[in-house]
Amino acid sequence: MKFGFDIDDTLINLREHAFHIYNEKLGQQVELDKFHALDRVEIHELFGMSDEAGSKMWNDTLEQIYYTNCPAYPDAVETLVNLQQQGHEVYYITARPAEHRERTMNWLMEQGFPVTEEKFFCGMKDQAKVNIIRDLQLDYYFDDKPDVLNTLTDDTLQVYVKTQSYNQHLTIPRLTNWLELKQIVDKNNDKK
Ligand SMILES: [Mg+2]
Repeated sequence: MKFGFDIDDTLINLREHAFHIYNEKLGQQVELDKFHALDRVEIHELFGMSDEAGSKMWNDTLEQIYYTNCPAYPDAVETLVNLQQQGHEVYYITARPAEHRERTMNWLMEQGFPVTEEKFFCGMKDQAKVNIIRDLQLDYYFDDKPDVLNTLTDDTLQVYVKTQSYNQHLTIPRLTNWLELKQIVDKNNDKK
């Protein structure tokens, strides 16, 4: 089967990693529970920034956010390695800017994620993601972002939302930790 994954905040804890970097860079001590209560993807309002200033801060800090020690979510690496070992196909579909493709692939490999060059799609804005997901005829797709997930209504594709504070309102099936993926697949196989 073909499994597609968004990367940031689906497989790796990027926003929280950025949150710690912001605290350090700005000399602030915003508490983590405020981060966990956010109902939007962007984190800058916790630091008193406007959307414009926040967007600039994010872009100025992007190198550090992407390529330092952002942790993968527990069991994400092992789960994807297992999928590949079982003969499934693992695809990555990310909105990270296209110029970050090589380095992001390398960074993921360094963390232990199974990456195949032709199964890695970078620079995918929301609508491009939707199109590529359709073209690839994925069986499963996992993402955290409401804007992407809301547009994916295909009968053959099983879409799951990786639970985050800002996607609680979505009514599609959700995954809270990566150990659940095996149960999801086993359950669906039983139904067939
Ligand atoms: Mg994401």
